[in-house]
Amino acid sequence: QYAGVPLAVRDLRKEYADGFVAVSRVDFEVHPGQVVGLLGPNGAGKTTTLRVLMGLTRPTAGEIYVFGHRLVPGSPVLSRIGALVEGPGFLPHLSGLENLKAYWRATGRPWADAHFDEALEIAGLGASVHRRTKNYSHGMRQRLAIAQAMLGLPELLVLDEPTDGLDPPQIAEMRRVLQRYATDGRAVLVSSHLLAEVEQTCTHAVVVNKGRIVASGPVGEIVGESPSVLFEVTDP
Ligand code: ATP
Repeated sequence: QYAGVPLAVRDLRKEYADGFVAVSRVDFEVHPGQVVGLLGPNGAGKTTTLRVLMGLTRPTAGEIYVFGHRLVPGSPVLSRIGALVEGPGFLPHLSGLENLKAYWRATGRPWADAHFDEALEIAGLGASVHRRTKNYSHGMRQRLAIAQAMLGLPELLVLDEPTDGLDPPQIAEMRRVLQRYATDGRAVLVSSHLLAEVEQTCTHAVVVNKGRIVASGPVGEIVGESPSVLFEVTDP
């Protein structure tokens, strides 16, 4: 079941220690070639959902399948997911490239030059990879973090609000990066609180509010949904 499916989330629930239910009955899939937007206002449960997917916090109930393998903390199948869910800390006196190499060595995974180069190329870092990260702008830092998530070209890329704090040209560039990534059968799951951003970037959307899915499907269908469903999520 779900063998060819990068991600299948089944009836996910996350209740925090204080009893707050951040995610409830969340059910969706991400297929090869799709860019899926997890869309919702602040506090909707997007970060919680992504943290559960990355094994950073345990779900209270529900299942996650990555290419048909049930995901549990430490699952080997996690290596098929590249993620930017928590901002990585870069060593300021090393260049972007040196930081990425150090990160990759720490994963203990085999080195593949070609995959490395392609990830840098898709992330569009250019010559700035040779500069020390202490001189990076927020946008460059963000792009380096995304390049790091793309190293090894994982079949599924999971990003939590990657456009946060970026200006409009950087947002447009990010859109191209994600769309370029989701070729060759790769897939992307990206969270956002902006309907327009999801509309322009994603092929599919999963709209969440107060921890529950309120709409999901191809982006073209979602934007045609009743405004009462989507109004709250477009309102910052
Ligand atoms: P944002 O865009 O603001 O990050 P989000 O959609 O990612 O929003 P979450 O960060 O998943 O939302 O938070 C969902 C809800 O869960 C929020 O109301 C938040 O206060 C609550 N929450 C998050 N972490 C905890 C925690 N450790 N204990 C209790 N409640 C928490």
